[in-house]
Amino acid sequence: MDILEQIKTWARVNSPWAIHFNSGSCNGCDIEILATLTPRYDLERFGVKLRGSPRHADVLICTGPVTLQARDRLRRIYEQMPEPKFVVAVGSCATSGGAFQGCYGVVGHIDEVIPVNAYVPGCPPRPEAIIDGVIKLLRSLQKTEPEVSLEKAEPVMAGT
Ligand code: SF4
Repeated sequence: MDILEQIKTWARVNSPWAIHFNSGSCNGCDIEILATLTPRYDLERFGVKLRGSPRHADVLICTGPVTLQARDRLRRIYEQMPEPKFVVAVGSCATSGGAFQGCYGVVGHIDEVIPVNAYVPGCPPRPEAIIDGVIKLLRSLQKTEPEVSLEKAEPVMAGT
């Protein structure tokens, strides 16, 4: 990896900007994400900053199953993010469809619509598990070999 790529990876790993999207969650996971961002759990100590626009974000944090109504919005948000971009699926619904799997208005889990880089299981997962998933994703970027693009990094699972 040349020095410029090393600097870019260092910056990316130390100050990832994130955006949160609820594609059909019951709000349980979203409340845990908000708790993760409060001073009690303080996700910002790892440099993670929540942004309002996908055009400024490196990491898309998704909650819930993907409903028919949210599918195109989720895809559009993902497409608006600059490369390289990463997706964290938070909660059982986001990782596997959870309690909503098979419902008439539900398309399925997040990776049926966009690629996912990190999975955080749980209903809802605790803030510690969400932090674990984000940190594992960032560590996996550091370990990426030069010939492997960041987008092709192996997906990670929180709590393992
Ligand atoms: S995983 Fe549980 S808390 Fe999260 S959206 Fe699904 S049902 Fe709600």
